[in-house]
Amino acid sequence: MRPGEITIREFEWQMGLLRDHFNVLSLRDALEHLERGCLPPRSVCITFDDGYADNLTVALPVLERFGFAATVFVSSGFLSGGQMWNDSIVEALRVIRPGPLDLRTVGLGEFDIGDEPSRLHAATGIIRDSKYLPLEQRSEVVRYLTEAANVDSSGLMLTHEGLKELRRRGVEIGGHTVSHAILASLDEDEARSEIAQCKVDLEAILGEPVNFFAYPNGRRDQDYRQLDANLVRDAGFVAAVTTNWGVSSPATSRFELPRFTPWDKNRAKYLIRMALNARQRH
Ligand SMILES: [Zn+2]
Repeated sequence: MRPGEITIREFEWQMGLLRDHFNVLSLRDALEHLERGCLPPRSVCITFDDGYADNLTVALPVLERFGFAATVFVSSGFLSGGQMWNDSIVEALRVIRPGPLDLRTVGLGEFDIGDEPSRLHAATGIIRDSKYLPLEQRSEVVRYLTEAANVDSSGLMLTHEGLKELRRRGVEIGGHTVSHAILASLDEDEARSEIAQCKVDLEAILGEPVNFFAYPNGRRDQDYRQLDANLVRDAGFVAAVTTNWGVSSPATSRFELPRFTPWDKNRAKYLIRMALNARQRH
């Protein structure tokens, strides 16, 4: 149901390329080196967003084998049993019984569920059509589907214990709001609360300061505003990452560090895209 996601094998060769051609640093060390003007050439930080359980069970063993540092940005409201609405829809469509699926009562269309492509097609369409629904109506779609499919996918996201284990094994933990809210769609008070509360939640679990933040979805203006970057700074975070593509230089704002996702399925393309991305300076 997730044809775009990389497999563990692909993740392994991607880490191999990083080992052979780049310098992998923790976000903390990279920022310190950047500050002092001594960042090694081709430096890379590895980050994961949202707080999926497989960051611990699948990705971490690979990272440990390579000796790589990484940062995991966690939406605190999904820990121990929660999950994002779009994941709930995918999981429901994966297991729902075959046959007609009529979603007109919740404001969407009709689908015919059968083989995997039809399930994938329905999930994609439902997510697309629900994305900009009012929150309450979107929750109703999710509730309807979850009940119709009778799913329990409470193991999708990290538990509190899993989060602590990630930290114990050297992974940096950052904030990613409480409910994965798109900050640009909130008013100032809501945005401030989403940002500050996730810091409070994560620090209570980990017993140490949480210094880094990642904006949900992460594109400037569409997903976060200058106002949100200011709120992140005011909440006491030290730096924040976006999904604006590019590389950081000493002139880059600490609260709008660019990132890049070279989701290529072959080695040559991956390297070429990394090289092209390195030419985009912010
Ligand atoms: Zn996210």
